[in-house]
Amino acid sequence: MQRLQAFKYELRPDGQQERQMRRFAGSCRFVFNKALALHKERYERGQKKLGYAGLCKLLTEWRGSMETAWLADAPVHPLQQTLKDLERAYSNFFAKRAAFPRFKKKGQRDSFRYPDAKQIKLDQASSRIFLPKLGWLRLRLSRPVLGSLCNATVSLSSGKWFVSIQTEREVEPPIPQASSAVGIDVGVARFATFSDGSYLEPLASFKKHEARLRRYQRAMSRKTKFSSNWKKSKAKVQRIHTRIGNARRDYLHKATTAISQNHAMVVIEDLQVRNMSKSAKGSAEQPGNNVRAKSGLNKAILDQGWFEFRRQLEYKLAWKGGMLIAVPPHNTSRTCPECGCVSADNRRAQAVFRCVECGREGHADHIGAINILARGHRVAACGEDVSRARPARAKRAASVKQEPAEATPSSHVLVGAP
Ligand SMILES: [Zn+2]
Repeated sequence: MQRLQAFKYELRPDGQQERQMRRFAGSCRFVFNKALALHKERYERGQKKLGYAGLCKLLTEWRGSMETAWLADAPVHPLQQTLKDLERAYSNFFAKRAAFPRFKKKGQRDSFRYPDAKQIKLDQASSRIFLPKLGWLRLRLSRPVLGSLCNATVSLSSGKWFVSIQTEREVEPPIPQASSAVGIDVGVARFATFSDGSYLEPLASFKKHEARLRRYQRAMSRKTKFSSNWKKSKAKVQRIHTRIGNARRDYLHKATTAISQNHAMVVIEDLQVRNMSKSAKGSAEQPGNNVRAKSGLNKAILDQGWFEFRRQLEYKLAWKGGMLIAVPPHNTSRTCPECGCVSADNRRAQAVFRCVECGREGHADHIGAINILARGHRVAACGEDVSRARPARAKRAASVKQEPAEATPSSHVLVGAP
């Protein structure tokens, strides 16, 4: 089985390399924004969309022109990759999978990607990596890189530079270690409730830091932009964001690892988290203008990271030889698992379930998880409701699904994974 995996390390550049990396990230941002502006212009004039090849031709012109000759200092492949990213963002928008692409801002996910493994050299013995136009860079090799190199992404986060090395390797098809099955009901009050009655507390990392974040954001807004005090406040705000992201990532990874180790079959509800967390889809005229008007629930959902939870469960189970089944979510919290009675009256309060027919009682989320598991068993056994239920994703796609190279953005719109 082919396994794609990303290994991420902190870089230890010298001053010259750091300046270069900033410049390269800036060049990529410039190219992205210039191309996006062009797309918009053409769209408004009703002209045909310029494809990737057309944009690459333009890039060559830009690199050759007097005005933007400095673009020629940056490695050409990462610049082209930026255009590829834009292309993907654009087609995601037209396929209604994402909001209209936004202009990139300095200091927001600064990164660039080297797509050609032949130009990258990794020297694990001396903890260094060679990247075009940067030379040998030292890195903190916290664990060995496995497999053969595919590409490398350099990124800046909270003042530190990282490289994510994507590799591929052949691994033995996994033999599931566990044989049990579990249903999971996700919610706001409890992050996840299992069909065996256990549950996970909500991930309140954002809430916990929210007050502090607001305070520092206010402090930042009072200061003169780009003054040294403003920069100090900004660094503080970014540090809190980083901490929130780390806590969330850590929590989700621990939870999904434990679940995928202990169960061979995991059943969840097929919730459209994307739709739930999206307030209004962007359009070409008003790209994501109303995204800021988000409800509390919306924020809670993003804070919980359900989408990331499902994504991690999917690839971790595939790695372990297990499977994830997503079942239709209708009435899972209103159906009695004992007698099958479906009634809104079964669920009087948010957390309390009591069947009006047979009197079965329980925590509503627990009952939901039991129903979800039962649905999963029916789907797995005889394909009941197959029209509405669907396996989480095509098996092959899931088995080669990569580990995240970068954190899921905590921004308002969930754009397609890299
Ligand atoms: Zn009942």
